[in-house]
Amino acid sequence: MAAEHGAIGCLIYSDPGDDGYGDGSVFPSGPMRPAQGVQRGSVEDMPTYPGDPLTPGVGATSDAKRLAIKDSPVLTTIPVLPISYGDALPLLSAMGGPVAPRAWRGALPITYRLGAGPARVHLVVKSNWDLKPIHDVIAKLPGTSEADQWIVRGNHHDGWVNGAADPIAGQVAELEEARALGELYRQGWRPKRTIIYAAWDGEEPGLLGSTEWAEEHAAELQRHAVAYINTDGNGRGYLGMSGSHSLEDFINGVAKDVTDPESHVSVWARDRARMEVARAAGGGRGGRGAAGNAAGNGDLPIGALGSGSDYTPFLQHLGIASLNLGFGGEDQGGVYHSIYDDFYWYTHFSDTSFVYGRALAQTVGRAVMRLADADVLPFVFTNLARTATGYARELQALRDQRASSIEAVDRAI
Ligand SMILES: [Zn+2]
Repeated sequence: MAAEHGAIGCLIYSDPGDDGYGDGSVFPSGPMRPAQGVQRGSVEDMPTYPGDPLTPGVGATSDAKRLAIKDSPVLTTIPVLPISYGDALPLLSAMGGPVAPRAWRGALPITYRLGAGPARVHLVVKSNWDLKPIHDVIAKLPGTSEADQWIVRGNHHDGWVNGAADPIAGQVAELEEARALGELYRQGWRPKRTIIYAAWDGEEPGLLGSTEWAEEHAAELQRHAVAYINTDGNGRGYLGMSGSHSLEDFINGVAKDVTDPESHVSVWARDRARMEVARAAGGGRGGRGAAGNAAGNGDLPIGALGSGSDYTPFLQHLGIASLNLGFGGEDQGGVYHSIYDDFYWYTHFSDTSFVYGRALAQTVGRAVMRLADADVLPFVFTNLARTATGYARELQALRDQRASSIEAVDRAI
């Protein structure tokens, strides 16, 4: 969008008002972003398509037909670079022009201005355009009576820098599940359905490993995959549940059987308590919160998934029912996608004794085993219908509200 409006380069920084000293003590005395913390990220146009920018729709194998870099519609046409707020401060201080609107101002000790100029920035970005191999790790436990139905479970293994919370805290839970399933297998357990465990590479630059694998195996996955369960790192606190609403009732059932390591009630009961508090405070979501949903089956509502992690190619492109799970909410921090997300930070400010790592393995491991061994796949489509009905109601309310405000304007004219 910056390019469409005439920008020839773009610098992005994380303001200390968002996840730096405006919100708590900065690292190393606290968990928040220090002045030199840089939040990396991908600016690939992922809603158009994720994955290898040069191989839309097909697996990026060594012999795949590739677009020329200049022809890729998902690469930005201007250089973009993330910088720290320490480096942003002198640049922002040197800006003139009108004062920024209140909502755009941060916590730096300056008057925020919009420019343009008068200071000029000399921006040099060197990009490496080499083709490089990436490595997904895929393990398969063959099913028995329903072997042609696949349960796929994944978490990425690449990190922007040290990647302790994102992705390793989720990756170790996945490894622990795989170890436990292997142990059960040695004891004679055989799942009804085929289980596939995947450790994805290249998630951070653009969901590369998962997208290319899903594209390469698209036909098989559409025929055989019944569900995909994703995690992407982990933290301390509440179980976050998002995904396909046909699996809402199922994952509620799993969450009721996992004990929260801090409160010793189920992770489900802890989620419900949080939703009730939020609703009492007026923050409930669209009337579907807390004590139950519209049909009264008592399920907690799960969130809807957009893009942003490895479930994207499975859910959005192949239409496979998906879930994204992870604990968080108690471990405030400002190290996301920076060099400070490392073992020291994680063991001082997040899941310090790894009890939520164990809880994540217990949650997802249960989900995988129940899906793999269910007599009938546990999809409950009334939850999906109810959610869609809720969306329709919200749209109707929005339309009515817009109509009455337009009428008011019309009358005034
Ligand atoms: Zn991640």
